[in-house]
Amino acid sequence: MKFIPTIGLEVHCQLNTQSKLFSPAATSFGADANTEVQTVCLGLPGALPVLNREAVTKAVKAGLAVEGLIHERSKFDRKNYFYPDLPKGYQITQFFEPYCTKGKIEIAIEGGKKTIRITRIHIEEDAGKLMHSEDPAVHESYVDLNRAGTPLIEIVSEPDIANSDEAVLYLTELKKILEYVDVSDCNMEQGSLRVDANVSVRPEGTEKLGTRVEIKNLNSFKSVKAAIEYEIRRQSEVIEEGGKIVQETRLYNAARDVTAAMRSKEEAHDYRYFPDPDLVPLILKREAIEGIRKELPELAHQKRARYVSEFGLPEYDAGVLTAERETALYFEDVIRAGAPAKKASNWVMVEMLAIVKEQHKQIGSLFPPTNLAELIHLIDSGMISGKIAKDVFAEMVQSGKKAKAIVEEKGMAQISDAGAIREIVLAVMAEHPSSVADFKAGKDRALKHLQGEIMKKTRGKVNPQVANQLLGEELAR
Ligand code: ADP
Ligand code: MG
Repeated sequence: MKFIPTIGLEVHCQLNTQSKLFSPAATSFGADANTEVQTVCLGLPGALPVLNREAVTKAVKAGLAVEGLIHERSKFDRKNYFYPDLPKGYQITQFFEPYCTKGKIEIAIEGGKKTIRITRIHIEEDAGKLMHSEDPAVHESYVDLNRAGTPLIEIVSEPDIANSDEAVLYLTELKKILEYVDVSDCNMEQGSLRVDANVSVRPEGTEKLGTRVEIKNLNSFKSVKAAIEYEIRRQSEVIEEGGKIVQETRLYNAARDVTAAMRSKEEAHDYRYFPDPDLVPLILKREAIEGIRKELPELAHQKRARYVSEFGLPEYDAGVLTAERETALYFEDVIRAGAPAKKASNWVMVEMLAIVKEQHKQIGSLFPPTNLAELIHLIDSGMISGKIAKDVFAEMVQSGKKAKAIVEEKGMAQISDAGAIREIVLAVMAEHPSSVADFKAGKDRALKHLQGEIMKKTRGKVNPQVANQLLGEELAR
């Protein structure tokens, strides 16, 4: 039997606001436990939530960036459950009326583009964190409420995703969009992007979607991919053996590369959702929404198209340069400083991104974009050769000095004066009479040797075309 998988993703994304969703407490990562808390986060009696405007603006930005419909009216609800990391006994979320519905994300799959529809996006607060003693002899758990009340958006996709690769493409694209509009740092290691994957399979030839299983809290693309693949295999085997899939929540164990049941549908919480009586409905004026839309920066796919049409770059270059917003902005600054697009693209894409990757650095921290434009100009004007440029580049990264200063300081400028080059050619010929004789006797290899000697003598600083031409002339005399 062959099985067709179906996947829908729920992505929790932490908004990068200064303060929490309903309280003025700070949200910075890595602060000492329970230092970023305030009456609302602690759920103290009588403490009242006050909605963070910045969080709403960022949520709206995210919704607009995925072409969602932003509702002028939405509401906050209580999702009730008991857990030590949730002092209030409920989480505030938007269950009945989310602020955004109907978005979409395009992914590039083999043979074209595919649209993954977004069902809804809602605003909600995060819970705190529980930490359990690593020493099995010590039966202690700790509660850190710094994360309690941090603003999140939850982005729920339609079950439009067909396999684990598409899931990763969707997440990559979504992450890129959220980073571009600067609503989240999307740091998966720090938990600012967490994914729940809903997976089902159905026998080929049937229409009705199979029963889904939800795998909770995946915190890397790698585990999303592995968990989905494992789950597809597991479900296919269960059905093949005549069994039935039960709707349940499972957890992925990366160390063992398996998913294991966490709770079944019967054990599912009844959250007793109801409108939060402490909060009025969220009303967004159409003009305010349109105002935010106007402020949206150019997105990755828009930049990508523009790099091809405006700068004449190959699709490949445009894709690499726009993969991260920082790289794209850097590249645009190099162009703005006067460098030709394709040359700027080559340097950024090949040399600079290699170092960024190797040294785990931000591209902007290597040296300013105007310095790269200057280096490219030195090559274009014939002052240094492409080969020397690589050395100058390395020195620029190392010392932070500007290209021209390095060239002057180290005497790296290309010798382009024909008279000076001819003198060098003659000197090399005088030093290697046997090679000259060999060449005249018809041994072509001797020419290569002489050319090499000229380069050695000048440490690669002569223009090779000019040198070779003059060498030819002198040998023909
Ligand atoms: P819940 O609150 O129970 O998680 P939601 O409706 O919020 O339910 O989320 C359901 C998620 O599961 C969505 O991403 C949706 O696309 C996905 N989904 C729904 N049905 C299926 C199915 N049969 N197979 C795979 N995914 C599904
Ligand atoms: Mg869910």
